[in-house]
Amino acid sequence: MPNYNVCYIYDSNSYAMKARIQLLFAFTFLIQVVIGQNNYFNTLQRNEKRFFSQKMNFKAINNHADYDIIYHRIYWEVDPSQLYIKGFITSYFKTLTPDFSAVHFDMIDELTADSVLYHNNKQSFTHQAGLLKINLLSPLNTGTLDSVTVFYQGVPLSGNGFGTFEINTHDNTPILWTLSEPYGAKDWWPCKQTLTDKIDSVDIYVKTPSVYKVGSNGKLIFEKISGDSKLTYWKHRFPIATYLVAIAVTNYSSFSDYAKVNEQNDTVEILNYVYPESLEWAEPMAKYTVDAIELYSSLFIPYPFYKEKYGHAQFGWGGGMEHQTMSFMGGFSPDLIAHELSHQWFGDYVTCSNWHDIWVNEGFAVFCESLCQEYLHPENYLSWKNGRMKYVLDNAKSGSIYVEDTTDINRIFNYALTYQKGGLIIHQLRNQIGDTAFFSGIKNLLTHDDTKAGFASATQVKEYLEAAADTNLTTYFNNWYYGQGYPKYSLAWNQDVNDTVHITISQKTTHSSISFFAMKVPLLLKGAENQSLVVFHNTQNNQSFTCKPGFFVTSIEFDPDYTLIAPHPATFVVSIPNEELEKTISIAPNPANSLLTIKSGKNTPIIGIEIVDVSGKQLFREKYAHQSKKIEVNISKIPNGIYYVKIETTEGVVTKKLAIR
Ligand SMILES: [Zn+2]
Repeated sequence: MPNYNVCYIYDSNSYAMKARIQLLFAFTFLIQVVIGQNNYFNTLQRNEKRFFSQKMNFKAINNHADYDIIYHRIYWEVDPSQLYIKGFITSYFKTLTPDFSAVHFDMIDELTADSVLYHNNKQSFTHQAGLLKINLLSPLNTGTLDSVTVFYQGVPLSGNGFGTFEINTHDNTPILWTLSEPYGAKDWWPCKQTLTDKIDSVDIYVKTPSVYKVGSNGKLIFEKISGDSKLTYWKHRFPIATYLVAIAVTNYSSFSDYAKVNEQNDTVEILNYVYPESLEWAEPMAKYTVDAIELYSSLFIPYPFYKEKYGHAQFGWGGGMEHQTMSFMGGFSPDLIAHELSHQWFGDYVTCSNWHDIWVNEGFAVFCESLCQEYLHPENYLSWKNGRMKYVLDNAKSGSIYVEDTTDINRIFNYALTYQKGGLIIHQLRNQIGDTAFFSGIKNLLTHDDTKAGFASATQVKEYLEAAADTNLTTYFNNWYYGQGYPKYSLAWNQDVNDTVHITISQKTTHSSISFFAMKVPLLLKGAENQSLVVFHNTQNNQSFTCKPGFFVTSIEFDPDYTLIAPHPATFVVSIPNEELEKTISIAPNPANSLLTIKSGKNTPIIGIEIVDVSGKQLFREKYAHQSKKIEVNISKIPNGIYYVKIETTEGVVTKKLAIR
């Protein structure tokens, strides 16, 4: 990220430089703008392809808000060549209400509950309308820990949501995988499908034909072969949202990498399950995970599940899915690795508390992709960001990031809004409040008792950032998260005879719901040999500012680091015309090749002349102690081209375009 000499200006028409930070000047971004468009669209193709049109008819079931799910011991039997599941699940729960007389689980009617055991006795139950209701022998008091075991089997729902429970083949070998987000867990197992209660821990035993490996959540404890079958045991001792419980089964090849997660040199195993035919190309690509996991661990908190593992399991879907401790991957591009890995912090460890706020998962994952670009590929960062910006400007002119209709899976996972604009508003907010406050607020989100290993709403994210930045972000969230569209900026400016720069910042918005976006607007003031980044606190439309950069400004660049969601460059940047003064100044001839004559009116004598090229490079500069109404400049040594002649008079500065031929 380039650094500048920065000053912040909050008030109009005054020299209110609240802070002046001297930073090492590194100016590398101009060259990068052009590169990288192709990269971006490849990324888009490889990224999470969540485009399904059907509406999800699942309605939140309130019947199971009366207990806290504590633990599942799961035993499944599957064969990836058959669309079928058979198993039994022992569920421990703690009652939250008095007179608790029945336990409810979500499970589709297409699956059959064979029997239910309660205290070693068969128990009566009903199963209809997607609800398995198990009647208890006698009501339980509040706070009672108890358990039931459900034996079930059947053909799980396939092709629902993002697949839910899919069988397919790769290289003529069967593969099975599950993907339950958002409402699919009930399609293949009896569960409490909710975003209010995490399963505190889970043991997953899977029996398969012996030729297959099973990928799942937590730590691999054993794989035991007995005759033609194999029993695989995964043990997970962290809270997990129901939709993140998953299995993937095929003839995987495996390999491991290791990453450091904290200053104490604790390491995490990155366990990769890939198709044998993919091993050669996937193994080097997956190594990117080491850099990414170390980066996130240093910026946020150490990888939350390092005591168990992180991992990938290749699967037959176009994108990726962030199952807790083992993402399922359609490929191993850096962006996809960066995205799915970041969900372990945002989505898994801290999970959106409702599907309206899926941004807590997906906006942050896209933001983390940009962090990987910034820290691991700084040479491409600006062009990469520019590509994402263009996509959002083209595709998110309307629509809020906040999801109104959570029955529409297409809307929940809208690529332009939930993902890309969702990521950019986080990046933008980071620049508005500064890195220190931003990362401290995010750390609080990940470590506070209210949210760690649990759930968070967008409002809670906002509150952590507000507390860290000591500022109110209501307007920001109302405009950018709940509101629609973005601003299109236009700027007008001039520098007067006292070297004071006058700037007016105006905007139009792309959606009528928001009439004005209050933002801190960075502008790079450029002179022949100096540049200064000035941040203007723009709180109303057509607001005027002044600042005194201490050098002759030849051009102004709008938001050079692409921190604002707005077209770049700003729609136009022009000098504020001083029409009366303009009329009194002339240059001739134009085009010129040897001698340039500059004339002014009798009330506007010339006190200085500067000639710069289009890049701001100074070729001529002279101050005139004796004010003159006619100046001749020898330009014969200046190469042919287009230039700007800045004529400084006692009444102000006028810029004229000059061709030298
Ligand atoms: Zn994602």
